[in-house]
Amino acid sequence: MSEQLSFVSPTANSPWGTYLSQVDRVVPYLGPLARWVETLKRPKRALIVDVPIEMDDGTIAHFEGYRVQHNMSRGPGKGGIRFHPDVTLEEVMALSAWMTIKTAAVNLPYGGAKGGIRVDPKKLSPQELEKVTRRYTSEIGIIIGPHTDIPAPDVNTNAQIMAWMMDTYSMNVGGTATGVVTGKPLHLGGSLGRVKATGRGVFVTGREAARRLGMDLRGARIAVQGFGNVGSVAAELFAEAGAKIVAVQDHTGTIVNSNGLDLAKLVPISRTDGVVGFKAGGDIVPNEDFWNTPCDILIPAALEGQLTAERAQKTTAKLVLEGANGPTVPQADDILAERGVLVVPDVICNAGGVTVSYFEWVQDFSSFFWDEDEINVRLDRIMMNALNHIWDTADKHKITLRTATYAVACERILMARQERGLYP
Ligand code: GLU
Repeated sequence: MSEQLSFVSPTANSPWGTYLSQVDRVVPYLGPLARWVETLKRPKRALIVDVPIEMDDGTIAHFEGYRVQHNMSRGPGKGGIRFHPDVTLEEVMALSAWMTIKTAAVNLPYGGAKGGIRVDPKKLSPQELEKVTRRYTSEIGIIIGPHTDIPAPDVNTNAQIMAWMMDTYSMNVGGTATGVVTGKPLHLGGSLGRVKATGRGVFVTGREAARRLGMDLRGARIAVQGFGNVGSVAAELFAEAGAKIVAVQDHTGTIVNSNGLDLAKLVPISRTDGVVGFKAGGDIVPNEDFWNTPCDILIPAALEGQLTAERAQKTTAKLVLEGANGPTVPQADDILAERGVLVVPDVICNAGGVTVSYFEWVQDFSSFFWDEDEINVRLDRIMMNALNHIWDTADKHKITLRTATYAVACERILMARQERGLYP
């Protein structure tokens, strides 16, 4: 009886379209809980806000902002804030839904949410960036809060932006509320290990997947797309474990070196000039060549929809680690499965960030802070337990790791939905 949503028109490979087909694939494994599945195909709440600011030159600029709370059956909403000129409501809906699946897959007591502003932050001065952040926070302030919905960093947002968000929310409620966002600076209730947590989680799940596949990380060739907080940290950890980073792509271009790129030099240069700034350390090649660079492990750690059917045909990787959210379109997923390429899906592979966000939130509430070893040991344990449970589920039903992750996560979400019952 349910009507289609009127405010989005997803296509097969668009983020929301991709998410919907991922949900459809899990229905046969949900048993009687399948009755509740429609609840996953629509967000609980979506807010669109206008963000007007006075620019440095005296003109007034307006930006469109969103906060989508996809599902809160298991706990408060949780998920990052993205600043990007291509952000749309449909994209934020998909990203919020992937947070619902992700928090359930690692069994954190959260639902899923996401936010974004349609803006290119590189074109704003620091003052303009602060104004945009504060006005946006104030606008979404009616639905966020330490017990209702907790934002965090995502693409193009960082600890400074979280500090402004925390301050703005706190000013509006009349008291310091550190637990309203995670990914904050350390002295403002942030957590040790948070900045590297997503990349570390990609490494932990990748190391375990390689072990199960019988792939030796020493000498393994790795190609990384996206060299920000996720891709560069994962690359460093794999290189420490003896792997060779043979190709890296970012918004400036693609650099390859079959003997392995020198990360100690590449990482700092990439921060200012992008990866093509390290010409001396490798060959700059056309972007499309990234996908057929010979490699054993492929880490898409940029944006959605990058691993297309055509690129899935080309890759020589045996293992794909989804550092980004939604990098693989459904058709590419099928091609990879047919070709025997193992995909560790985003909703488990990049869950390290939200896991340490959870640690941060718990530390803020108890006002008691843990040392970095404790954080990394707990992160490792949660990721390994989650991955192993998902792997066993995949083996049992002979399904991909993605469908198995959805089976585990959707069962938890829909069980909570059923036990709570429908209000009124
Ligand atoms: N933006 C990150 C993600 O996509 C982290 C979210 C969080 O820490 O709440 O998982």
